[in-house]
Amino acid sequence: MTGWDGDTDVAGLLQEAAGLAAAIIDGASSGPVTRPLPGDLLDALRAERAPAVGRPIAEVLARVRDEVVPYPMGNGHPRFLAWVNPPPHPIGVAGALLAAALNPSVAGGRHAAVHIEHAVVRWFLDLLGWHASSAAGQAFGLFVSGGSAATTTALAAARHRAYQRAGHDDRTAGMTGAGRPVVFATTEAHSCLTKAVELLGIGSAQIERIACDPAHRMDPPDLAAKLAAAASAGRLPVAVVASAGTVNTGAVDPLDDIASICRDHSVWLHVDGAYGGPAILLLHRFTDDRAALARADSIALDPHKWLYTPVDAGLILFRDGDTARSTFSLVPSYLAAEHTDDEPPWFAEYGSEQTRPFRALKLWMQLQHLGLDSYRNLISHDLGTANALRTTVEHAPDFELLASGLSVVCFRHHPAGLSEHDLDTHNRNLAKRLQHGGHAFLAATTVDGRAALRACIVDPRTEPSDIDAVLTAIRDLGPPGPQPR
Ligand SMILES: *Cc1c(COP(=O)(O)O)cnc(C)c1O
Repeated sequence: MTGWDGDTDVAGLLQEAAGLAAAIIDGASSGPVTRPLPGDLLDALRAERAPAVGRPIAEVLARVRDEVVPYPMGNGHPRFLAWVNPPPHPIGVAGALLAAALNPSVAGGRHAAVHIEHAVVRWFLDLLGWHASSAAGQAFGLFVSGGSAATTTALAAARHRAYQRAGHDDRTAGMTGAGRPVVFATTEAHSCLTKAVELLGIGSAQIERIACDPAHRMDPPDLAAKLAAAASAGRLPVAVVASAGTVNTGAVDPLDDIASICRDHSVWLHVDGAYGGPAILLLHRFTDDRAALARADSIALDPHKWLYTPVDAGLILFRDGDTARSTFSLVPSYLAAEHTDDEPPWFAEYGSEQTRPFRALKLWMQLQHLGLDSYRNLISHDLGTANALRTTVEHAPDFELLASGLSVVCFRHHPAGLSEHDLDTHNRNLAKRLQHGGHAFLAATTVDGRAALRACIVDPRTEPSDIDAVLTAIRDLGPPGPQPR
């Protein structure tokens, strides 16, 4: 019954699972946004040892239904407005199932999954106008686990190019021979940049922080000055990392000015589009930003953010794929024989993963079904909902807008008569209290030193009525009383 024998009713099993998945998706909008695991269930899970003897499939599915499904993170709910965690598009969920059933390794080869991934990547290169081959080499892209992996992959390539140009081979010798490496970014850059720089051995103390304007965007003159100072100090500039939608306030850096400065200083420009990339690539109103984005050397995208693809799906795009290949390519002898001339480039030669999941199928199916136009509508809807929240907050006497860009709105509850200190305490506790009540889920953040509530709308099912419900829930919690621990 529990063995891997011909007795398993595969279709029955998958139908049961599919029914459960449908119930999860259909039921996600009702009830509280999230719900903690009850203490006895948590204790039982913590005490449980790996079973020596298996149990029937029906019992396993029942445990998922009773012990896992009722206690979600909450990001399927339209009043979950924290972080950048959208609900999965249902056809992407189907894609995840089918990809798991096929279970290829998309390292390379000539099977369908390889061609599907190349196709999806090409569609994104097309949006950037990167389809044409250029003297510098052809553009290339590949799926990775997310924005963090995309950033690490991009910076590894940037580092390799910097050392190569300085006449050193970082792949074999490590980071020796050239000046101390330096990466340029603002304090608004996502924390994954710090992790990547630490992981790559550059060290986060080598991140030179560029000043921001009042809208939290990189200040180009400060970037130019710091690049010049680094050059005269004999340092090795590895990359400038700009943002097309910062995670905290949704700010889009002045990409065109930054690209010109990077060109003048011959330094790699990486743009983090993990959050805002889809809006900029797809919407007509961002045509100028899109043209500037296309001047980058590498771009991180995150389909599992604003393209509603089930986790995981990150995407890294290189304007010159040859640099990525010379950074990562290492074909072991037992695989060399597999490579033939008439097959497309092997993804495994352009990144750190060897066995690679079929991430592209989810997004390929979503794009097939929705088309770019429906995607434009979904993202526009999110922007419109964020705009409604922004406008409401701006006009309400007891709320205050602190920062906003793309579909991010940072604001605070501002009941009359509270000091700055008490406002901070009150707003810092609000996110927790809201979440506890199950009415809404907002992130807590800090904007210009002030405690803020952060909403990020990446759910086209979030409606103005949800926005009103969230603001009402905040008001109902009232001015600060005794704070929960
Ligand atoms: C989410 C995010 C990242 C990190 O991506 P992961 O998929 O979480 O690894 C990087 N940058 C921005 C702007 C993001 O929103």
